[in-house]
Amino acid sequence: SFQALSPARFLSRAAAVYGDRVAVVDGRDRFTYADLYRRARQLAGALIGLDLRPGDRVAVLSANRHEVLEAHYGVPFADGVLVTVNSRLGAAEIAHILRHSGAGILICSPSLGQLAEKAAAESRRDITVVHIGDEYERLLEQATLYEAVVSDELAAVAVNYTSGTTGAPKGVIYSHRGAYLQALAMAFHAGLTADSTYLWTLPMFHCNGWCFTWAVTAAAGTHVCLETVGKDAVWSEIEAHDVTHLCAAPTVLSMIAPGDEDPDHGHGRSIWVGVGGAPPAPAVLARARARGLRVTHLYGMTETYGPVVINEWQSRWDELPEEQRDRLAARQGVGNIVSEPVRVVNEAGIDIPADAVTLGEIALRGNNITPGYLNDSAATESAVPDGWLRTGDLAVRHPDGYIEIRDRAKDVIISGGENLTSVEIEQALLAHPAVAEAAVVARPDEQWGERPVAFIEPVGQTPVTADELRTHLLERIARFKVPDAFEFGRLPRTATGKVQKFALKQRLHAPHGGRPA
Ligand code: ATP
Ligand code: MG
Repeated sequence: SFQALSPARFLSRAAAVYGDRVAVVDGRDRFTYADLYRRARQLAGALIGLDLRPGDRVAVLSANRHEVLEAHYGVPFADGVLVTVNSRLGAAEIAHILRHSGAGILICSPSLGQLAEKAAAESRRDITVVHIGDEYERLLEQATLYEAVVSDELAAVAVNYTSGTTGAPKGVIYSHRGAYLQALAMAFHAGLTADSTYLWTLPMFHCNGWCFTWAVTAAAGTHVCLETVGKDAVWSEIEAHDVTHLCAAPTVLSMIAPGDEDPDHGHGRSIWVGVGGAPPAPAVLARARARGLRVTHLYGMTETYGPVVINEWQSRWDELPEEQRDRLAARQGVGNIVSEPVRVVNEAGIDIPADAVTLGEIALRGNNITPGYLNDSAATESAVPDGWLRTGDLAVRHPDGYIEIRDRAKDVIISGGENLTSVEIEQALLAHPAVAEAAVVARPDEQWGERPVAFIEPVGQTPVTADELRTHLLERIARFKVPDAFEFGRLPRTATGKVQKFALKQRLHAPHGGRPA
């Protein structure tokens, strides 16, 4: 049989050519590519020793550690299917994922061991829980090396659950071919080489780390694991290991982008920073750029294995003419396209004009678009009605090829027949210095159908009033877009830092205590 396209092969190649280079830095531990390759094959042997059959699912519940990378290669080496689980979920949710994916083995890190046992018990399935630490090391030591030949590149290499921003997470199937192509596209667009060092601020479980678990290894670069993300931790890792690349959600970028209060960080460095998952605030982008972070805005979804629309203009920001920078800075979107077909279509599936005004839904197709959702043909059918994945995200097209994402279709507020995009109102709110985070959602309204309500997370303890925010907004957006009410407090988030607007909408419908002032 022949060897088909598979991201697992990136590790075999890196070990053959760059076996002596550092593959992973994890706290005080370092592993070369030769080490990582040996450990992944040991893991494969151990999994087969635990009766794993071809196509069986192996779940991983862990913080960012070298063992997670071992699973990204060891599970396909055993001909298994990797299911990385969001470590911030509760036992019941994890039990659901274990049941839904049919995983028979669950690998967990020490701090999540109890949660893993509880979830395994609640799943009421026969699950072997493997604890990272002595138990895991013993399994590896006793195993014989194994590396399966992947012969069907359309078979699943992984199942990954969506963030759960708009409802219950859906299980997205990744094929070997899709993950292989997406990882190569990512390595190319981020400019990864064997001299690159990638810092893991993004959770590895989310969308398989936007495919960087595979992309960095494809280039034989170095992974630096980070378990707990904080500004100081990130900057000390960057400085200790000469980090060249990282990816971050907007909330993390906002946390780590140095401000005037710390004059030291970032000077003289050139760090590629992929930011996506939600729209970053323009002020945060500007602050990050001022300190040598080459911020590149990415758009993608779990269904696309990682970023598929990349603002390539941004990665050469410093070289752009002033006029082009101003033009780009005024837009919320992500610009031009990576490698796969992207369209923006109306409800009939017809392309909208590139007039920067007409709203349409982003539709995608290609090898790196999921073949579908696991055990959910109805959801697959409605997401991919005609070979084009409907993303649920609304955008306008500009004449220069730029796709400007405006909002999720579910989050648009239709007030008096006007479409108000929650993102536009949030961006205007974020321009206020006392606003750390903002989320604007629709509240049913007898007169207008829907009206916007704003939920605000203030900066520190800075007091800000609804009246101040109203005045601030009136200087920036039309009166009818100004929210009717403002509520202050912590926002409900997914593990990837996205605000769960469905939870806020539920709060508005709550029988008591749901009335903001
Ligand atoms: P669920 O599908 O479970 O509701 P989710 O859609 O948040 O959760 P992900 O697959 O992690 O799960 O996120 C993909 C979504 O994130 C996209 O559909 C889009 O709405 C949003 N997104 C991603 N990148 C960007 C970006 N650059 N700007 C704005 N929104 C983005
Ligand atoms: Mg989604």
